[in-house]
Amino acid sequence: MLKTEKNFKSFGGKGGKRAKDPKQRGPKYWSQLDGGENCNGKSQSPIDIVPLETKQKSFDKWKFVGYDNEIAGDQTGAQVKSIVNNGRTVQVDLEGDYFISGGGLPNTFKAVQFHFHWGKDNTAGGEHTRNGKTYAAELHIVHYDYDTFDAINHAIRRPKGLAVLGVWIEVGKHNTAFDPIIDALQRIQYKGQEWLFETAFPLQDLLPSDVNQFYRYDGSLTTPGCFESVIWTMFDQPVQLSKRQLAELRKLRESSYTACQKLGKDSCPDDVFIEKNYRPVQPLNNRLVYRNIVKNLEL
Ligand SMILES: [Zn+2]
Repeated sequence: MLKTEKNFKSFGGKGGKRAKDPKQRGPKYWSQLDGGENCNGKSQSPIDIVPLETKQKSFDKWKFVGYDNEIAGDQTGAQVKSIVNNGRTVQVDLEGDYFISGGGLPNTFKAVQFHFHWGKDNTAGGEHTRNGKTYAAELHIVHYDYDTFDAINHAIRRPKGLAVLGVWIEVGKHNTAFDPIIDALQRIQYKGQEWLFETAFPLQDLLPSDVNQFYRYDGSLTTPGCFESVIWTMFDQPVQLSKRQLAELRKLRESSYTACQKLGKDSCPDDVFIEKNYRPVQPLNNRLVYRNIVKNLEL
């Protein structure tokens, strides 16, 4: 079922107007945008994570609730999950109950959406780097503090209001866990297009097999308004996608379906592909990055 041009509510608050000069649209200019004042802040994301400079800390064990529920595009029930091309990324808005706690988080956080960042080829695309190493892509699962706030919009500007689970994606083997997402991309090639999943999958399958090794720091949204409200988790273990799977992300367009495309032409003047939607790393300033060492109570 295709729902085109649905009015899409973007994650990230007010966002900002695009500068008229296309050369002045990049992250360097975000602080000049309406609502971009925070983008020059002192606790911005992403960052370069240097393991040797991280501080070891034992956090309590993760508790994932609902992460094993199947995400499915059931058109008749309430559990409708759609995948959207919003012109900047591909995003899945979650409507069910998916919670995380433990893992050093101060409260229970509820997942509301996940999305991806990628580059024009596999040499860059992830947002966080490790020892300066870049990854091909990065997955972000966005949660808000469910104990304190009744909706993400109330948490998005508040310190520690959000918790994002970040997963590095490297080039490797074909990853069947991501097939429901990758297969749906051909249905949402243009901005504003939306598709309901045909294959059910649990959220936990998108995480690396070892979630107990991770990095933790306080940072920000990586898009305007750059609010410094995020408790960041970057899992140490990357997941793999094949070259072919990663290439599907780059076929998504920034622009809407036009009359030209309707005619089935091979190329149209509006063909602008989403192929660099990651923000460069930001200064760490005085922040500490922690590395979790699992406290295994069974031992
Ligand atoms: Zn993101």
